[in-house]
Formats: sequence, C-alpha cells, structure tokens
Amino acid sequence: MIALPPFVADAIKRIETAGFEAVAVGGCVRDMLAGKTPHDYDIATSATPDEICAVFSGERLIETGLQHGTVTVLLSGEPLEITTYRQDGAYSDGRHPDEVVFSRNLSDDLSRRDFTVNAMAFHPTRGVTDLFSGQADLKAGVLRAVGEPRVRFSEDALRVLRGLRFAAQHGFSIEPQTAAAMRAMRDTLSPVSAERIYAEMTAFLCGKDVTRVLLTFPEIVCAVVPELKDTVGFSQNNRHHIHTVYTHIARVVGNVPATPALRWAALLHDCGKPACATVDAAGESHFTGHPQESAQRAEAVLSRLRADNRTKAAALELIELHDLRTPPTEKAVKRLLSKVGETRFFELCDLATADRKAQNPAFFAPSKAREDAVRDLGKKLLSEQSCLSLAELAVSGDDLLSAGIPAGKELGDTLRRLLDLVLDGECENTKEELLKHI
Ligand code: ATP
Ligand code: MG
Repeated sequence: MIALPPFVADAIKRIETAGFEAVAVGGCVRDMLAGKTPHDYDIATSATPDEICAVFSGERLIETGLQHGTVTVLLSGEPLEITTYRQDGAYSDGRHPDEVVFSRNLSDDLSRRDFTVNAMAFHPTRGVTDLFSGQADLKAGVLRAVGEPRVRFSEDALRVLRGLRFAAQHGFSIEPQTAAAMRAMRDTLSPVSAERIYAEMTAFLCGKDVTRVLLTFPEIVCAVVPELKDTVGFSQNNRHHIHTVYTHIARVVGNVPATPALRWAALLHDCGKPACATVDAAGESHFTGHPQESAQRAEAVLSRLRADNRTKAAALELIELHDLRTPPTEKAVKRLLSKVGETRFFELCDLATADRKAQNPAFFAPSKAREDAVRDLGKKLLSEQSCLSLAELAVSGDDLLSAGIPAGKELGDTLRRLLDLVLDGECENTKEELLKHI
C-alpha cells in the first residue's frame, strides 16, 4: 500500500472539507507505485485557483504559476503545488496551449498528461485512479503516450524530449508506436523555447540509462544537437578505438558521474572529430586538434540552448582539456591543479577514465593505471596543502614592490614566474628563497 506524507494528505483533506475534490497526481504517484520516494508532490483539484487561495488563506501562498492554474502553498516549510484540473485547448504553435481551460473533472486532467505512467492519480481513501493502464505499463517498464502518440507530440513537441528523459531516468523502454511518433516529430522541436529544451536534455543526459537511449534515438539527439550529425556512423579507423564516434560518445556519457557539466562535456567532447580526421601513410586515422574544434561547436550548442554560464564554462573547459594525457609526475599534476583548480581537476580525471573505458579495451589497463596515479597524486598534493596558486605563494605583490619591481605587468609576470618555479619544484615556497630568484 502506498501512503502520502501527512502534509500532503492534510492539504487534500482541507480542500475536500471546503467542498472540492483533490488528489495527488503525476510523478509522485508514479514514483510511489514504483517503490521510490518522490522528490516532490503535486496536487490536482476541482477547485479554481481563487478557491484554493481562499482555502489556504492563512498560509503563505506563491502565485507565480497562476496563469497555468497553479498555486504553491507553503505547509510546514514544504512547498506544495496545487493545480486546477485542466483540459488543454489547441496548440496552434506546437509550444503552448492557446488557452488554459479549467475543468471540474479529474478525467479531463489525466487525459491531457503526456505518458500513461505520468497520468495516474492517488487519493488517501479512494486509492489509485488509472484510466490509461499506467500501472501495467509501469510494471512492464514501458513508456507509452496517453492517446494518439502523433497528436500528443504535435500538441507539444517538448514531449519528444520528455520521452527520452523518462526512458533514461527510469530505464523504461518506449512502446513502438510512441517511439515511432517521437522519431517522426523530431523536427518540430525548433519552436520550443531553448530553456525548456535545455532542462529536458540535461535531465535526460543525467539519467542512469542514458547510453542505451542515446544509442536507440540518434536521430532525435541530432535534431536537438545537429553538431553531432557527422559523428553518427563515423568510423575512427584507429587501433585505439572499436566504436564509431557517436557510439563512443554515447558510452562516455554513461561512464561519467551524472552532473550536468560532465554529461554535457561527454556528449560534445568528440563532436569535432569528423572535421579533424586525417589518414596517415599506414592508413590509420588521427584527429589532431579535435578538442578545440569540439569546444568551438560545444560553445555554439550551449549558447543556443541558453545553458547557465557556470555549466557552460565548466563543460567547455573539460572538452578543451579532455585529451591532455597528464603524466603522473608532481610537476605535471601541480601545473594542472594550478591551472584548473581542484573541482575541474577531478572532473578531468573522471572524464579521462570514462573516455578510455569507451575505447579499445586492449589499451584500457595501462591508461587507467596512469590516470589513477594522477588522481592519487592530486589528492596527496592537496592534502599536503602544496602551493598551487598565487594566493598561496610565500611572496606577495607588496613584497615585490618593496624589492624594487615596478607595479603593473612586470610585477604580475614575476609573480607568475615565481609560482611556476615553485610548481616545478625548482624553488622552495619561502619568502627568502623566492626573493633570491628575482
Ligand atoms: P519528475 O519526478 O522528474 O519531476 P514528473 O513526472 O513530476 O517527473 P514534471 O515535469 O514535474 O514531471 O511534470 C509533472 C506532471 O505534469 C507529469 O507527470 C505529467 O503528468 C505532466 N506534464 C508535465 N509536462 C507535460 C507536458 N509537456 N505535456 C503533458 N503533460 C505534462
Ligand atoms: Mg515533478
């Protein structure tokens, strides 16, 4: 038996005491039935937003979603979204309904939802309402559109990406007619706002089953990221590789930890390879310069999709440096740590290992050993609080001014040179020794 947390059950009771109907809906019902703890709860109700505001008049209300019929109520610190039953109108732009039509019927509201597993409701005493066999699909691990798939994807093309997202997050397979409609409708995504596409793509990439879904739907992925088109089926023709560029990419994405920066970096790290390919005298391909080419394309992708600046900057740096092959020496590791900082250093280590793991297994063990050594050295240097940045250098700008170095560029260059000496182990990080080197 599934049960709602007390604050959700109480909210339902308060709405019903005022004479309306209320149920838990969507992702929380799906997750509870799958034995998972929902990350949030949504309530759907026959009451209008005004009526909900009246029911919860003593509580803190957030009315930002009002034009969609959503009132957020803060109950014992927890935000709870309460949305009036809706019956979506036509979508003449494939983007949003022309008007939001409220309804007093739960069945209208469940019918407008995207997938059968997302179209169930739960009530503390009446139990599950499941008009589209969502429970059977959930049990079978199948993602199926509610109603006629083509119609549903043409109403809102974002649902194509939501399909990939739910398949990757929950390990669902996609019912054949639903999958066929997703493929057929992939080119209608362009009017959808970049922010919505980026959010769904990021959640998709961070799903546990992303590799399988990337490999099953390359044409949909390339509709969103055309920069990947020429990687599909592109042979690497090199003894270090056993996969085409796209298949390699799909595997690397699944191999890196599930953070947006790493997953986007993995998706785009080799997108410039086909453009950089050259064949040597022995007939083997090489891809010199591909990290820079990939970073340039990635910049275009992430700007177009309006990625947040932090994720974008991190992903671009990871892509540009992904093929560094840092040797496991103190000097090289210190230089890298000093250049990119602690967080990015370990992300680069993760990306490098994920990358090798998706290449020819015959070469994996030695490169893995080298990367582990680099990672361990990094940890050791950080725990020793080695001097890795100008802030930790034993001399400051003021010290150099006192020693007669003029302010400005020369001073900055001198500090940087002294840091390099310390990083390379050629000078001890003490004021006395450093001043001798000026
Ligand atoms: P998660 O647990 O990842 O948040 P979710 O199922 O709650 O998954 P949301 O994006 O939060 O997904 O949407 C909540 C619910 O609203 C969905 O379960 C679905 O019923 C409905 N929904 C959301 N977006 C759409 C859409 N574009 N078209 C149709 N129904 C949608
Ligand atoms: Mg949700």
